[in-house]
Amino acid sequence: MEWIEVFITKPMKNVRIEVILSVFNTYTFVLGKLHLNGVVGKNGAGERGTAVEELLIRNAMVWPHAGAEVIKDGSILIRDGRIAKIGRFKARAESVVDAEGNLVMPGLIQTHIHLCQTIFRGAAEDLQLLPWLKNYIWPLEASHDPASIRASALLSCAELIRGGTTAFMSFETVRHTEHAFQAVAETGLMGILSHCLMDESSGYGPLAVATDDALAYCDDLLEEWEEHDRLRLAVAPRFALACTAANMREAAEYARDRGLLLHTHASEQIPEVELVREQTGLFNIEYLDSIGLSGPDVCLAHCVHTETHERDLLREKDTRVLHCPSTNLKLGSGVAPIPEYLDMGLTISIGADGAPCNNRLDAFEEMRIAGLVQKPRLGPECFPAKEVVKVATEGGAKTLWWGDEMGRLDEGMRANIIIVDQNAISVVGSENYAANVVYGNCASDVLMTIVNGKILFEEGRITTIDEEELRREARKQRKKLFERAGIA
Ligand SMILES: [Zn+2]
Repeated sequence: MEWIEVFITKPMKNVRIEVILSVFNTYTFVLGKLHLNGVVGKNGAGERGTAVEELLIRNAMVWPHAGAEVIKDGSILIRDGRIAKIGRFKARAESVVDAEGNLVMPGLIQTHIHLCQTIFRGAAEDLQLLPWLKNYIWPLEASHDPASIRASALLSCAELIRGGTTAFMSFETVRHTEHAFQAVAETGLMGILSHCLMDESSGYGPLAVATDDALAYCDDLLEEWEEHDRLRLAVAPRFALACTAANMREAAEYARDRGLLLHTHASEQIPEVELVREQTGLFNIEYLDSIGLSGPDVCLAHCVHTETHERDLLREKDTRVLHCPSTNLKLGSGVAPIPEYLDMGLTISIGADGAPCNNRLDAFEEMRIAGLVQKPRLGPECFPAKEVVKVATEGGAKTLWWGDEMGRLDEGMRANIIIVDQNAISVVGSENYAANVVYGNCASDVLMTIVNGKILFEEGRITTIDEEELRREARKQRKKLFERAGIA
């Protein structure tokens, strides 16, 4: 086969794409921009983006996983969305990314965010958890319509893609989850969308949905999305105070019958733990365990306030803890004992939680705070940067039961990859890449985001979302939503 090497004019911040044109391939160039015939534009379920069958990343500092050494002048060959080869080698491919010595690492994974809340950002600041929920978050969730859910999901995905998050688990609300699925499908991200269950009107009446109805809706979601390659459904009873025991039990049974993950909030704040104890006579984790919400398929966000016997339960059942350090600080909840959990062998992952209590969906920020927040309590040696990166990559993958697919850069795994700027002023000269990623770099240092072998972010722009249109639409939908909710 004859190859002609041409075009190196993508002026991305420090990274450039070269295109090696095969005379047998059918590329066309329009106004200097690369178009891969039949790929750019609508694709599959409304999905857009830059996809090629074969992509080579070369001239990179390749960091395959948190426990590995960095491979200098490394390369990664991606074929059909998966990593075909990784190491130091020379190869040719349809498209080549010259990483120019920047760091190439696994995409970050956030296991607890709320796509549906992103559009509420800034609306409920400096409040206690329960009034924050009841006076703002729940009325706004109850007022969502399909268009506001879609705008909120796309706004979230744009931030995730720009900040190097390649897969996530989201906690949606009690209605319109199909519109979040559709929006995420179009962005190219991988995700687990959790449909929220709340049957207890003491939570918030307008969001209360009978369990049968909520699970019938999950049936519909499964019918539509079960076969999707990048998206999955999880079942998410909101938390012990918003759900009856029967609701939580049925949710667990439903999820297990179908091999779905269970997702809930637990032991975020002391008043919540005390109320659960008052109502059930048990500590929160103990109560959840008693009604079937424990095990490796159960993902508990927060776990800030736990008793020794509850921690033992988490370990015995291998229940998963989703750590949201920024939210825990902003809502004054406390510091989750993550190093202690890790020492016990628990699987930990990170998440930004909802934008109204953070306010960013920024995995770099979460890593930095996760690392820093433990030091005054346990000393500077605890939770070293490599461990933090492991939590934000492999921890997330294992939690989402995607451990064979992502979280590391191994041959055969999905090509969920980010390129992180090592020319950024805040890291120049440092070859401690773990420290760079956790403490030195920030989300805006992500140069390229690749999911499933498809480039979702390059040259400072997202390939699958029209961001200008999104800004307009998000402002419009937010205004209408707040009017419907009666919140100024
Ligand atoms: Zn949450």
